Amino acid sequence: MIQLATRVTQVTPSLTLAITAKAKEMKAKGIDVCSFSSGEPDFDTPQHIKEGAISALDQGKTKYGPVAGESGLREAIAQKLNQDNHLNYSADNIIVTNGGKHSLFNLMLALIEKGDEVIIPAPYWLSYPEMVKLAQGTPVIVNTTAETDYKITPEQLRQAITSKTKLFVLNSPSNPTGMVYNREEIKALAQVIVDHDLWVVSDEIYEKILYNGTEHISIGSLGEEIFKRTIISNGFAKSYSMTGWRLGYLAGPGELIKATSTIQSHSTSNVCTFAQYGAIAALESPESPQCLQKMLDAFTQRRQVILERIKAIPKLSCPTPMGAFYVFIDISQTGLNSLEFCDGLLNKQQVAAIPGKAFGADNCIRLSYATDLASIEKGMDRIEKFVNTL
Ligand code: PMP
Repeated sequence: MIQLATRVTQVTPSLTLAITAKAKEMKAKGIDVCSFSSGEPDFDTPQHIKEGAISALDQGKTKYGPVAGESGLREAIAQKLNQDNHLNYSADNIIVTNGGKHSLFNLMLALIEKGDEVIIPAPYWLSYPEMVKLAQGTPVIVNTTAETDYKITPEQLRQAITSKTKLFVLNSPSNPTGMVYNREEIKALAQVIVDHDLWVVSDEIYEKILYNGTEHISIGSLGEEIFKRTIISNGFAKSYSMTGWRLGYLAGPGELIKATSTIQSHSTSNVCTFAQYGAIAALESPESPQCLQKMLDAFTQRRQVILERIKAIPKLSCPTPMGAFYVFIDISQTGLNSLEFCDGLLNKQQVAAIPGKAFGADNCIRLSYATDLASIEKGMDRIEKFVNTL
């Protein structure tokens, strides 16, 4: 037996990646799998974004670059944050990372140390607690329920705070629930954060995937006091269908961003140089909003279909998601826990879904509707059949 470092024995590998891989493996063997497991848009990266990277390659942008990112990209990100999110950042407040996941990991390493508590509302994106543990911090999980649309209330946040609390993790729109906090809710949480002088990291990776006119509120835009305590984590994966490019960023106080850059200088160095030019095209091209709209139109239609199908199955229920591309379904009435449910569904009906246990909610499962309508219909037929046998 290899004596591994405690740090790695305390964390669990990503279940979403594992199930997605298993579904792909089954498909490769010729099994007709319906997969609701994927956390990525099923659209190709828009051509104009690819062209940005291709012409950078042609121009020889193939060398090491600045650790924190190409200056043109950092400036474009700062401008985007000013324009879209009303956050007053300059390029010095930005670090470009290998994806939103890497942004958050860098942040945890820069901010959290042994004994620090990090408050994470459940259901949560499954990497948050593991990252905190890898940074030797203590994740403090606050359970929320469908009654509050899986949103943490200011009272719950206040009650979870101790003298050791350093950071609060906010994710709106949320993976896995699709819930979006409104202005009043964010304002109330911001007040608690300011009152207790905490940090907040706002994971805004789904900010552009919104339905029915829902507004995305960036917590740092709600006043100088909360702005000082905010770090934004974002990336290009979801809004621009660029999951495989591995491009994300952090924005926050210069001193903290500089610290993450020091960490990055000894781990990954700069993000792939020519890929960053694809990101510049994503932010600056007038074609990007049209591409986003096309994707949103497809998601809107699929969301409607999947919600109608779930509603028609008496033992399943879910609140209406207002963002991202997930539905988070309560399965308690089936009498199964989430692992039993997802195992049965995959083995008996060849449908891949993610057990809520991975997100801290064992009474739920997550379906991603980032897949075509025909697969959604077929998959929902099978889910209905499976639930009817329980
Ligand atoms: N945050 C959330 C909530 C996510 O769902 C994801 C992707 N699944 C990420 C961050 C990371 O995205 P990436 O590393 O692909 O940019």
